[in-house]
Amino acid sequence: MKFVFFGAPGAGKGTMAARAAESFGLPHISTGEIFRAAMRAGTPLGLRVKAVIESGGLVSDELTVGLVRERLAEPDAAGGWLLDGFPRTMAQAEALAGFCPEDYVIDLEVSDAKVVERLSGRRMCRGCGRSFHIHLMPPAVAGVCDDCGGELYVRDDDAESAVRSRLENYYRQTAPLVDFYKRRGTLVAVDGEGRADEVWAVLRERMRGLIESGKA
Ligand code: AMP
Repeated sequence: MKFVFFGAPGAGKGTMAARAAESFGLPHISTGEIFRAAMRAGTPLGLRVKAVIESGGLVSDELTVGLVRERLAEPDAAGGWLLDGFPRTMAQAEALAGFCPEDYVIDLEVSDAKVVERLSGRRMCRGCGRSFHIHLMPPAVAGVCDDCGGELYVRDDDAESAVRSRLENYYRQTAPLVDFYKRRGTLVAVDGEGRADEVWAVLRERMRGLIESGKA
C-alpha cells in the first residue's frame, strides 16, 4: 500500500514513517533524508541543494520530482511505500498523482506552538538520520544515537531563522495540498499533538485498518 506522510515541519512525519516502515515492512522514502545523505557524502546532488536547504527554502520541483520518480521505480518500492516530506507543492502532488498515485495521505495535525517546541530541541543522527528530542524523545546517552551509536547534531535548518522560513513555505505552498487530497478522497487526518508513543498507538491502528480493508 502507498502512503504519503504529510504535515508541517516537526509534525512527526519522519518519526512516524520510520515506525510504520518497521511495523508494516514498507520502504521509508524521505526526500529530506536523501538530500541530507547526499550533502554528507558531498555528491553533486548534495552540493546543488545545500544552500537552499540550509536557508529553509525548497529544492526545485523538477529536481525533487525526478529523484522521487527514480526512487519509486526501484524494486523495493514495487509492493508499496511510505513517502515522507514529498509532495510539498501542488506541482509535486500532481506529478505523483500522474506517475504513481497514493492510496492514503496521513495528515499529522499539530499546532504551531508544538512545531516550534519540537524543532528547537531536535537532534539528528549523523550516521543513520534518526531524530531525537532533548526533552520529548531523549537518547539513552546524551549526544549518541540509540540505534547506531552515531553522533547527534542540530540540523542547520532547525535554526530559528530557517524554521520561520520553513513554516512560511509550509503554509504558502504545502498546506493547500490538504484540499487537493480531500478532493481525491485519500486524506486521513491524525492528531499529531501528543507524545510519539501516543500518536503512534493511534496511527498504527488506523494504518492497520486501512491495510486490512485494502486486502479485503
Ligand atoms: P525534511 O527532512 O522533510 O524536513 O526536509 C528538509 C529540507 O529538504 C526541506 O526544508 C527542503 O529544503 C528540502 N526538501 C525535502 N523534501 C522536499 C520536497 N518535497 N520539495 C522541495 N524541497 C524538499
